[in-house]
This record gives sequence, C-alpha cells and structure tokens, in this order.
Amino acid sequence: MLDQKVVKLLNEQINKEFFSAYLYLDIAGYFADQGLDGFENWFKIQAMEERDHAMLFRQYLLNNGYRVHLTAIADPSKQYDSAKAAFEESLKHEQYVTASINTIYGAAEAVKDYRTMQFLDWFVKEQGEEEKNAEDNLRKIELVGDKGHSLYMLDHAIGARTYSPPSLDLD
Ligand code: MG
Repeated sequence: MLDQKVVKLLNEQINKEFFSAYLYLDIAGYFADQGLDGFENWFKIQAMEERDHAMLFRQYLLNNGYRVHLTAIADPSKQYDSAKAAFEESLKHEQYVTASINTIYGAAEAVKDYRTMQFLDWFVKEQGEEEKNAEDNLRKIELVGDKGHSLYMLDHAIGARTYSPPSLDLD
C-alpha cells in the first residue's frame, strides 16, 4: 500500500512524461520544417524515451495494484526563432522534470516509502543525464553558432543518435 499523495504524484508524472514526448515531437517538427533532419531525429528519439518513462511510471503503479488515471495532454506547440531557442527550451524542460522527480522523491521519503525511492533512483540518475545532454547540445550550438555551414555539420553529428530502450525494465 503506497501513500495517497505519492500515488497522486506518480500518476501526474505519467502525464508529465507524455507531455515531454509531445514537446519533443513538436520541436522535432520545428527542425523538420527547417530542413535540419539530424536535430529532428535527435528529438524524435528523445520523444520515444519520454514515452518509455511514462510507461515505466504506469507500470510501477499497476505493479503496486493501482488503477492508472490518464489525463489530457496539453498542447506543446511553441514558436522557436532559432535552433538555439529550441535547445534552450529542452534544457529548461529537463530542469522542470528533474524538480518534479525530486518532489515525488521527497514525498516518498517523508512517509518512508523505500520502494518508491528505489524505483525513483533510476529517474534521478536519468535526469542527471538528460540535463547533461541538453546542456551539451546547447553548448555545441553556442560554440558553432546556429547558422549556415557549421549548423549543418552539427545537425549531422547530433543526428547520429540511435534509440535504445531504457535500462529499467519493470514487467
Ligand atoms: Mg523523462
């Protein structure tokens, strides 16, 4: 039996992860529109990872005997005036998700819910990597500038990313 507040936060996190997938698909759409297929690919894969995160939170609740409540996903559409602005948005969003994971962790800790804390440990580490990836991308863009030939080369380099499923498997 998990604490009610913890269950509520875990359930809300499912929506936040699906929203992340939506946001990154929207950014992928922005890059597709700009003809930057590498960045498009990177964000499409990022969206797949976010969907995986949502499914992990869902599975954790199911495994603990809870009925999962799915709620409407907000419209992620935004206007970006540069590649850099889109990468800044992704870093800002990852910082928001980190704070959200930390909030759940704190709620679980407050009621000595060691099971949920252990489950969340994977996400705490994952968020460290997500923020680092977003920071690295942003730094590279700042380094080469977000126009012309150098942007094209960076698009090619970042676009080499391939999808791999999460190392956490709950089934
Ligand atoms: Mg995530």
